[in-house]
Amino acid sequence: MASILVIEDDQHIRASVARLLASEGHDVETSGTAMAGLEKAVHGGPDLVLLDLGLPDVDGTELLKMIRAVSAVPVIVITARGDDQVVVATLDGGADDYLVKPFTTSQLAARVRAMLRRTGSAGAGEQIDVGGLRIDVPARTAELEGAALDLSPKEFDLLVALARRRGEVMSKRDLLAEVWREPYGGSERTVDVHLSWLRKKLGESAAEPRYLHTVFGVGVKLVDPSS
Ligand code: CA
Repeated sequence: MASILVIEDDQHIRASVARLLASEGHDVETSGTAMAGLEKAVHGGPDLVLLDLGLPDVDGTELLKMIRAVSAVPVIVITARGDDQVVVATLDGGADDYLVKPFTTSQLAARVRAMLRRTGSAGAGEQIDVGGLRIDVPARTAELEGAALDLSPKEFDLLVALARRRGEVMSKRDLLAEVWREPYGGSERTVDVHLSWLRKKLGESAAEPRYLHTVFGVGVKLVDPSS
């Protein structure tokens, strides 16, 4: 799918991240030091870099500047420090996203998917059709049986997240991470509320679902009601 470079000095984290990404079908390269990582980032032409900030030879924020000086490759920073100052400096320094340790593998996978969607060819002209539902992702418009849906930005993002993985149950945690970008904070109630608004706009209810089906204790999935 994508070629991903992981720059992380902790051998266990490096191995488990590499395993996870490989299991998602990606081509993974790893580096335990900043300088070897820089070499691979510049010459290997990865589609995405996962960069740990705490590296033994050069600080990760410095390495980020070096990468940015020569490449526009998307970078997700992994940091042990989640305080405001670090996060702001990281994003200002050219990172596209960040993950705070400890993170779960499902969060990491979701961040990587989201980043590849935003930057990859999948994002260009992406249109999703499920039953009578048609979503034009770049135009941020959606239609149901040919009639335009009037969705708020979050309702639209929620619909896209579910439609991209039609037939798959997504947990509210996954949705908080992917749509609200709040993998730790955030309330599942937020998801419930937006789901109920979205259902109303799709002309259905939790009791009489068509597209949006709750799987109790697990999450929600979007299905094609005609199939
Ligand atoms: Ca480290």
